[in-house]
Amino acid sequence: MPLKIYNTMSRKKEVFKPVKEGQAGMYVCGPTIYDYVHIGNLRAYVFADILRRILKINGYKVKEVMNLTDVDDKTIKNSQKAGMKLKEFTKKYEKGFLENIKDMNIEKPEVMPKATEHIKEMVALIKKLLKKGFAYKTDDGIYYSIRKFKDYGKLSKIKKENLKAGASERVLKDEYDKEHVNDFALWKFWDENDGDVFWETELGKGRPGWHIECSAMSTKYLGKQFDIHTGGVDLIFPHHENEIAQSEAGFEKKPWVKYWLHNEWVLVDGKKMSKSLGNYYKLKDITDRGYSPMDLRYFYLSGHYRKPLNFTFTNLEAAKNTYQRLKNIISEIKKSKEKKNKKNINAAYKQFLEILNDDLNVPKALSFMWEILRENKLNDAEKYELVLKFDKVFGLKLDKEEKIKIPAEVKKFVAEREKARKEKNWKLADELREKIKNAGYYVDDTGEGWKIRKL
Ligand code: AMP
Ligand code: ZN
Repeated sequence: MPLKIYNTMSRKKEVFKPVKEGQAGMYVCGPTIYDYVHIGNLRAYVFADILRRILKINGYKVKEVMNLTDVDDKTIKNSQKAGMKLKEFTKKYEKGFLENIKDMNIEKPEVMPKATEHIKEMVALIKKLLKKGFAYKTDDGIYYSIRKFKDYGKLSKIKKENLKAGASERVLKDEYDKEHVNDFALWKFWDENDGDVFWETELGKGRPGWHIECSAMSTKYLGKQFDIHTGGVDLIFPHHENEIAQSEAGFEKKPWVKYWLHNEWVLVDGKKMSKSLGNYYKLKDITDRGYSPMDLRYFYLSGHYRKPLNFTFTNLEAAKNTYQRLKNIISEIKKSKEKKNKKNINAAYKQFLEILNDDLNVPKALSFMWEILRENKLNDAEKYELVLKFDKVFGLKLDKEEKIKIPAEVKKFVAEREKARKEKNWKLADELREKIKNAGYYVDDTGEGWKIRKL
């Protein structure tokens, strides 16, 4: 079955047909680097990662571009608060973000452009929009006139006529002296709140608006028409609608993007996890409580990307236990030396691919894996090979032995047990194994010595 993905533009599942055969260009709206991201944001990036992995197993050469927003109201304000230069300030959170994506086993996008390094491209696009009559100047900046763009609203299915003030938090923040309340800033002229953050350009002294960076940078690296654009559902309007308006007016290529994919939210008590509501956790908050990034990744994978995912520590605990059980099974079947039948493996893999190619149904693919592990249609060696192939998509580090921190007390029991075994004091050795078990660990004696794992 060919790969089918749900396109927000058509509100339908569509067969993926790339612009260039065998290649897939995707743009992911990345973070604003003014703080560490929260685990709601991380769902968006794990989702994009799963998508790129599925494209890859379908044979596509993937080029993924993820931007880093390193200039906007928030980065300027917070850097001033911290008494740091903008660049120095955003560098800290860029580093934090890169660490987060590595910890989450998210494959690094091919290009991670920063807004401040693409001012030239943004200015060129704004100049085009001015020249074509899609943009106008006011006292405080240059704005996009949504009235001029006939297709405005085609992604969000919002009618321009019905747009009212206060429709979106982000619109309000960008609001100045405009012709239409939803006209948005392409370029903001400098004022004293911006301090030393400005660029002297042909448009005047100032800085870019938020939406223009994604139009300019995606197109620079992926071309005037490309395959896939992703983000969370909250970006559909106005951000992605505005990106379309800028790009289709400026580059005159329709459609600018062929497939729009959006992930649903991580919720807390039925509400979107967000900085503004204060109901958020960062990755470190999770690991400090004893959960590994892979426990969190398993939790994300348990829900379909188009369904909201309710975050609770009970749910995370359940994911952790299931993940640990999976790892334990894998470390057992890994030992098998049974003869493998390629036909069995290929048939199961084909089924797996079909499940994923139906709009990236990862939760179903996980259930399918569990079914294979539970049933005895395949031998352990075949199961092990398949699980490793599946993990190319899951990215759960299923073949990696986890480095676990063993408490000093348990280490002492292990050393004493080794000594007892050497002295052939089996009774004591067994007692110590019990003590280790009671502390939540299990020692396994293998040909290469002992191994310990968490129960
Ligand atoms: P932002 O920095 O707010 O633009 O968010 C970065 C990415 O995370 C965007 O794709 C958002 O749509 C996404 N996002 C933000 N909050 C959540 C959430 N609670 N659940 C899922 N995705 C989110
Ligand atoms: Zn964007």
